[in-house]
Amino acid sequence: MKLSPLMLVTALLLTFTMALVALVYERFHEYYQGSAINLLMIALALFVTFLINYGVLVILFKSYDKKQIKIISETFPNYFVEENPISLQELGEKFSDIQHDADAKVEVMQEMDKYRKEYLGNVSHELKTPLFSIQGYVETLMDGGVENLNIRDKYLDRISKSVDRILNIVQDLDMISKLESGQISLSYSRFDLNALVREVFDLLDLEAQKISAKFTLFTPQSTVWVYADRKQISQVLVNLLANAVYYCNREKASINVEINLLGSEAIVKVSDNGMGIKPESLARIFERFYRVDSARSRKEGGSGLGLAIVKHIMEAHHKTIDVQSVYLEGTQFIFRLDLTP
Ligand code: ADP
Repeated sequence: MKLSPLMLVTALLLTFTMALVALVYERFHEYYQGSAINLLMIALALFVTFLINYGVLVILFKSYDKKQIKIISETFPNYFVEENPISLQELGEKFSDIQHDADAKVEVMQEMDKYRKEYLGNVSHELKTPLFSIQGYVETLMDGGVENLNIRDKYLDRISKSVDRILNIVQDLDMISKLESGQISLSYSRFDLNALVREVFDLLDLEAQKISAKFTLFTPQSTVWVYADRKQISQVLVNLLANAVYYCNREKASINVEINLLGSEAIVKVSDNGMGIKPESLARIFERFYRVDSARSRKEGGSGLGLAIVKHIMEAHHKTIDVQSVYLEGTQFIFRLDLTP
């Protein structure tokens, strides 16, 4: 049995006070036997015993509490920085806070772990498709397909497309990880938004022509000077307009960029009259790798990261991007940029 000093002192104290009571009783009970003084003496002795016990126990337990709290404070220095000693109740409250903190941290870590697993799964899934097709074409060519010029050219062309696809995915992944880790610092400049929109129209013109889609810019002024990172905003417009072309799913689609000026901002609306997005998918389209129709999107060559990149770029500019869509009628993306004189 381990001898605890606190318990030892308490036991000694109780023994001592009881001995005291017995001694007093023994000494005087013969003289005052049966009298009221006898009863009074007993009551007084009990009261004194109670007072001594109470006082000593309070002192002992308080000093014990202090010692324990000191040990705990030294074990968790981050949580006990106060100079003043705290009570046991406050200690309990602190521990309940620590418990909540720890629970929240574990939850975040579990969430991050889940996200990491999902992310890795998505990346390998995205890369597997083009890699397997390259493997298939190469094997066919090695098995003699290379002798047939038609097959050789057709397969080499497909291999080249799959390689482009992998490059696209890797570039998007690189971009998104740089945006997320804050490695991309924006390079702000003053530029004409009208000119940038026309540049992006030209860039995507060939794709638009394939489905006879028509790009139109609606702008209130011949020049709209904005202050932002031109390269990144160009990327935003490319992603939104390329999506409008890919996902309109119809011939002769109208794809418009409409600029309006409101206060110190230019409001930019990128809209199409394509197939639109169902309400249940709308809330998720800015998620990494989310696709409304995975089979179709993959065939078109998107990485599923285009809108996630757009969202990150706008957030880096401290701006938001909104989407509105009516299924089978069309989609509209809206973002704002700071105007500059
Ligand atoms: P992806 O690389 O697949 O294009 P995005 O992040 O750019 O990925 O887009 C996510 C999904 O949002 C697309 O797969 C598509 O289903 C949907 N989407 C994006 N833009 C449009 C649009 N203009 N019209 C209809 N659907 C769209």
